[in-house]
Amino acid sequence: MRVLLCIGGLDPTGGAGLLADARTAWHHEMHPAGVVTALTAQGNKGVTWWEPVDPAKVVEQLSGVLFGSPVAAVKVGMLGTTALVEPLVEGLRRSTQMPLVLDPVLGASSGESLLTGPLSDLVPLMRLATLVTPNRPELAALTGREINTMADVQGAAKDLRDAGAQAVLVKGGHAEGPPVDVLFDGIRFYEFAASRVEVQNVRGTGCALATAVACRLGLGNALPEAVSAAKAYLTQRLEHTYDLGGRHRYLP
Ligand code: PLP
Repeated sequence: MRVLLCIGGLDPTGGAGLLADARTAWHHEMHPAGVVTALTAQGNKGVTWWEPVDPAKVVEQLSGVLFGSPVAAVKVGMLGTTALVEPLVEGLRRSTQMPLVLDPVLGASSGESLLTGPLSDLVPLMRLATLVTPNRPELAALTGREINTMADVQGAAKDLRDAGAQAVLVKGGHAEGPPVDVLFDGIRFYEFAASRVEVQNVRGTGCALATAVACRLGLGNALPEAVSAAKAYLTQRLEHTYDLGGRHRYLP
């Protein structure tokens, strides 16, 4: 079985972060390995507390996974602090080249910030990534651009590539109307449209899309095919969300 290495935060509710990534890996018949970068406490009131894990302890976790098994692909989600960028880049570079999807998690949908440190610190990790997957607010923050139109999305995606990302997938869930995701691979733009599934308060949709792309890349798909398949997979999961008696809905 191929291994998907997820590097990210622990959301004890299982709505987002590593526990959610594990579900996505299983759906792709991959074995999920997880390196915890941050602990969080969250629930009906959103994120009430979080704390990054000491970088030396993150590196130790990473070494255990990388030297224990061949990793087919890597997904990086919540880092908590940009102080983790350098040790992660160093640790990952030592292993053989594998696809890496970076979901630049800056905050929760409930509004809390989930990253401390200057955003420019993310650049070395972006350079290592096969794909960076910001949503529109994250793209705006990373590029300092205002994003309203599709032309704005394309301009900012180009900026992010100029800053070192090999390819950029701008998730369209935060835009009005049907969610159109835009992929820029440095040569051309691809648009992936889907009809919007009307569900409220679903956790972890951004995580799921980025992780599904990482799975597909790990299974050997080329980038546009991986994104297209991941998008169809997310739409299908959005059609089957469930609640656990609280405020949020969960992806199956
Ligand atoms: N907690 C963790 C560990 C995450 O990785 C994320 C997002 O990636 C969140 C919380 C926020 O998730 P959401 O925006 O779905 O509330």
